Amino acid sequence: MIIARTLPELNAAREALGPLGFVPTMGALHQGHLALVAAAGAAGKAVAASIFVNPTQFGPKDDFARYPRDEAGDLAKLESAGCALAWLPGVDIMYPPHGASSIHVAGPALHWEGAARPGHFAGVATVVAKLFGQIRPEAAYFGEKDWQQVQVVSRMVADLHLPVCIVPVPTVREPDGLAMSSRNAYLTAPERKAAPALHTALQHAVRDIIAGKEVAATLHHARQEVALAGMVPDYIALVHAETLEPAAALVRPARLIAAAKLGHVRLLDNVPAG
Ligand code: AMP
Repeated sequence: MIIARTLPELNAAREALGPLGFVPTMGALHQGHLALVAAAGAAGKAVAASIFVNPTQFGPKDDFARYPRDEAGDLAKLESAGCALAWLPGVDIMYPPHGASSIHVAGPALHWEGAARPGHFAGVATVVAKLFGQIRPEAAYFGEKDWQQVQVVSRMVADLHLPVCIVPVPTVREPDGLAMSSRNAYLTAPERKAAPALHTALQHAVRDIIAGKEVAATLHHARQEVALAGMVPDYIALVHAETLEPAAALVRPARLIAAAKLGHVRLLDNVPAG
């Protein structure tokens, strides 16, 4: 595996490798990230992964400084997953001192995580656009765990006519249903035990909505279920799967999305809803 830390190193690696499938990450890699690498590899192209903890997608109250970092462990995991190129740029490369351009996002970025974390999706879109410009991949792989992020990036790629195919990859879960996340490492033992209740509540709600139960009452019940498990639900919502607009009744395609605070950790999850 080639490890590139400068733009000349990256460009030389790109020349050598040919067409690329790309997996952007913030490191602290787990099986969810490696499923993206596997999906990219299965498509037959060489796989490039980036590790960059992007400061512009963290708010002032977020965990940028204490975000988990394990470069040596991450590189070993990428190598054994068959990655051909690891791109590890510094902040000065991604955000040069005289930089004056960024991506503005609206539409699917406005609600939910966008409302809870002002500036978050503008930071995500900007760094993803820069990474696409550097790596110039044919396809890029994103996890459905961050459903809204996939829609924001897909919208950006369509709007800006970027020549990259966005491929969503299903959420990888722990055996008890908890969606794998780098931030799960922050959970205390009792919190870790309680955490799968978010996914369970979504499964119950989607079952009831598909069975024809009233959406508002079902979502209210799901919030109660999550609160009973010791979490503070932020939102549990039925939305149009692409626009992320709230849906009062079942639309197609629909997604049930949720965020809840468990201790200091914000858990995200979502499931298809028809
Ligand atoms: P992150 O390092 O958290 O920015 O995530 C990098 C990529 O991995 C994003 O596309 C995430 O959606 C994806 N990802 C994170 N957790 C999972 C998971 N449990 N299953 C599938 N993809 C995931």
